Formats: sequence, structure tokens, C-alpha cells
Amino acid sequence: MKMKIVILGSTGSIGQSTLDVIKKDKRNFEVVLLTANSNYKKLVEQAKEFNVKNVLIKNKNFYEKTKRDLKNKKTKVYSGDISITNIISGKVDYTMAAIVGVAGLQLTIDAIKISRMVALANKESIICGWDILRKYIKRYKTKILPVDSEHFSIMELTKGINDDEVEEIIITASGGPFLNKSPYQLRNVKPKQAIKHPNWKMGKKISIDSANLMNKVFEVIEACKIFKFNKKKYRIMIHPQSYVHSIIRFKNGLIKMILYNTDMKIPISNTLYGRKNQVSNVKKIDTKILNKLNFQNVNTKLFPSLKLIEKCLDFGFLAPTIVNASNEVLVSLFLSKKIGFLDIVKTINRIFKDKDFKKYATKKPNSIKDIQIADNWARLKTIAMCV
Ligand code: NAD
Ligand code: MG
Repeated sequence: MKMKIVILGSTGSIGQSTLDVIKKDKRNFEVVLLTANSNYKKLVEQAKEFNVKNVLIKNKNFYEKTKRDLKNKKTKVYSGDISITNIISGKVDYTMAAIVGVAGLQLTIDAIKISRMVALANKESIICGWDILRKYIKRYKTKILPVDSEHFSIMELTKGINDDEVEEIIITASGGPFLNKSPYQLRNVKPKQAIKHPNWKMGKKISIDSANLMNKVFEVIEACKIFKFNKKKYRIMIHPQSYVHSIIRFKNGLIKMILYNTDMKIPISNTLYGRKNQVSNVKKIDTKILNKLNFQNVNTKLFPSLKLIEKCLDFGFLAPTIVNASNEVLVSLFLSKKIGFLDIVKTINRIFKDKDFKKYATKKPNSIKDIQIADNWARLKTIAMCV
């Protein structure tokens, strides 16, 4: 029996890597739905290559074009806010949730309803909506597998381990393109420089988050949501080679880590195949690299974003949602050259000081609506602070 697959955000970096893994083993997979925001050309290309039954192009402006380009195929084309629960009948085996931003939250919830297993790359939906996702995960008995390389590693390293056995959980950071710059030099960096990650090829938003280490702020919050370990146990370390993604230091003196190449196809194929992983389309690790691995503490003068971790965790509730929304706006303002690179973290810090922050941040999110209210406030506030 072929495994039925859905990919949310198939035209992005993680989505394409997932299809790359599937391509090597097409006879075992049936792709039943692909979704994208506006890149209809890539979506059409993928639909044709994988004989996909359904595609959803979110942005309605591209609906007609998608339909036109697929008119000779049996693929059904959907658009807008239609729920994927109305597209898919019955259960699928595996959904890759790889939309960028909190925009992926509703689709992730729907994916949990229709899937036996959800590989969760969309970290923003975990950061903002985990309390809600968790209810659906329980109700629908869906298996959740984290795809983010650090979280995939923590999951692998802590199977069967309790909090009282763990001393410390280190999440590594490559340090991005600006690791060896001075804080002063960061004042005038351009989007093109910030996007150029030394080790990974990723979407634009996560590349900017990696350049100022906001990605690590989100990853610690993400880990605190997914795993049961005490939130004070997390620490960030710089590891420029990105071969080790997480390190667990146990109370009994043992330290565990997993190494793998900087290729997201490795965690992706592991979520698809589990231990029966037979896909060999990933580069083998060069053991010579072991002589070159190094680790160092983070210079918080260069990466002041890391101070936001404690602030977010101390507030809890909707503070991570506010930081995420503000950051999404700031990253797009930076990409369109409306603000400087350092303004991203500076503005997020200003949000914490706003007179209304507490009112929005300290509410317990019970529904998507609660998240949207805080998210909207943060977006408007951020824009107002930047004009
Ligand atoms: P990307 O920008 O390359 O792709 C994003 C995908 O989401 C695209 O298919 C796009 O069409 C879709 N999309 C964007 N906005 C949408 C909207 N409003 N509604 C519906 N679909 C929308 O992003 P990416 O780098 O593949 O990252 C995807 C997610 O995975 C992010 O949450 C990121 O943090 C996480 N992640 C990525 C990597 C990586 O290596 N790229 C690693 C770890 C985690
Ligand atoms: Mg990561």
C-alpha cells in the first residue's frame, strides 16, 4: 500500500526537500495534496511530476492560471480559505506542515485532523498555537514529529528520558553569516548579505531569523512547548559547522549528541521512514570533519536577540505570539529595505515596553481568535513604531 502524503507549503525550501525525498521512492508514496501561497508555476510543475490529485493555491489571484496550466490533468484545483478537511476524504498517512509563519496555524490544525502523522516544520504555529494544537493532537490521536533539526535531534536523544535525568539541553546555532562581524558592522548590512547563510539553503524569513539568532529564540520556545523538560535547562551555543544540532548533558555525567550533515532531507526522510530509513540520496558525513568541530559561547553584544528568550518564557501566554508577529512584520520590512538589520530586535524590545503589551501578552490563548487578537495588535504596533 502506498503511503498517502500531503505537503503544506510544497513550493518552499522544506516542501521541495520533502518532494526530493519522495521522488527517489515514488512507488511507495501517493501525493494527494500540495499547497502553496502564490508560486503557481512551481505548484503546477510539482502536480504534474507527482500526478497529484489535489492542489490548493492560497492566493486567489493565481487560481485561474493554476487551473489553466493543469487543464489536461486530473488534478483538482482549489483556492482561498477552503479547509483541507473538505478536500481530503478519509485519513492520509503523513502531512508535512511546511508553511512559513503563523499563517500556517489553521492549516496545521486541519492537517492534525486528517493525518495519522504530521511532520511539523512550521515552527511559528508551534510557538503561537501549541496549546490549541495539543488539544487536536490528543483528540485525533495524531503522531507529531518535529522536523526542525534541533528538535528532531532532541526527540531522538531523549526517547524514554525524564526531566530529572537531564542537566542541560544545548541547542546549537551556526552563528549565521555575521558570526565574525562586530556589532558596529551590523548596522548597515543589506538583505542580500543577511540571507546568505553559510551552511543551509532555506527560505528568506528563516534565513534572516538565523542571521540575528531570532531563530534560536523561537527554537527554545518551540522546544519548551514540544518537550516536557524544564525551560530553564535550555542553552544556546555557537557551533559554526552545524553538524551537531543539539547536545544533552545528563546528570549522570554522560553527554549525548547526534551528528548529521546540514541537509534537511535527513530529518525529513527520518520522519517519513522512521528507523526503516532506506533513502540514500543524502550526502554521507565526512569523518574528517570531526577534527574541525568547535563550540563557543554566544556573544550577546553581537546577538542581543537571545535576551528575548527569558523575557518570552517569563511572560508565557501570548508573549511569544506577539514577538513572532512583530518579527514577521520586521523581517518583511527589512527585506524590502524599509528598516535596518538591527531595528528588528530593537523594535521587538520596544514592544515589550509598550503600555498595552501586558494586556495582550498575559491572556491565556484558548482559541485561534485569541491568538489573532494579539497577533493583529503586535503587527499594527510594529508598523506604527517603524513609520
Ligand atoms: P519558504 O519560504 O521556503 O516556504 C514557505 C512555504 O509556505 C511556501 O510553499 C509558500 O507558498 C507557503 N506559504 C507562505 N505564506 C503562506 C500563506 N500565507 N498561506 C499558505 N501558504 C503560505 O520557507 P521554508 O524555509 O521552507 O520554511 C518553512 C517552515 O519550516 C518555517 O516555519 C521555517 O521556520 C521552518 N524550518 C525551515 C527550515 C529550512 O531549512 N528551510 C529548517 C527548520 C525549520
Ligand atoms: Mg533549526
